[in-house]
Amino acid sequence: MPDLYLKKCRCPYCLKETETKRVLSRHIRVDKTDRDGMIHYKGSNVYYYEPVQCTHCRFLFHDTFGKLPPDVRETLATNILPTLPILPFAATERTADQALQLYKLCLYTAQITRQKDAIQAMLGVRIAWLYRLIGNHEQELLWMERAVVKYEALYESYTDPVDTGIPEDVLLLRLADLHAVLERTTEARTWYSVIFQSKTVSDRVKKDARHHWELYREQHDL
Ligand SMILES: [Zn+2]
Repeated sequence: MPDLYLKKCRCPYCLKETETKRVLSRHIRVDKTDRDGMIHYKGSNVYYYEPVQCTHCRFLFHDTFGKLPPDVRETLATNILPTLPILPFAATERTADQALQLYKLCLYTAQITRQKDAIQAMLGVRIAWLYRLIGNHEQELLWMERAVVKYEALYESYTDPVDTGIPEDVLLLRLADLHAVLERTTEARTWYSVIFQSKTVSDRVKKDARHHWELYREQHDL
């Protein structure tokens, strides 16, 4: 594929340099963006190429993964890495189904290595979006539901953007948008109202939220 290139990245487990396919930025063409932020691409799908499988040790990871603590490294070495499948398509062009497989394994390693909940929730949303792409509505809603539960817990225990792993206003918008995807009007209205009335939410997020809520109301005759 001419619009893919090999990107070098460092494996968080074995710390060796590995290579993975990515979409060349000059070839990224956006078709449209859904209300909840999912981008539809005209050419190669950028989402497909986010998960990485290390060619040296099999570990699967995402660019957002942080350092691995010593006890986690030990668990990985003895119990996890030997059980991970070597996926040949991890190094080549990927289909939606193959990307889904990689994301699920990535979410599994994110849980094992205790990555931030914000990262795990983001991976869950990506999985929901891939199901939307292949038209599996039931699975899409199931994964959205799981992500909402995680994001709500994140909001309950919110400290700051670095520690929690997501800016507070982005988190609020995500909660409102995901409730809207799940067709929960009362919850969506509540979260959008929190954004509209907040004194700390950025103008950009407020503008997006107004637009998303308008669209929701139009589509639902509210
Ligand atoms: Zn590795």
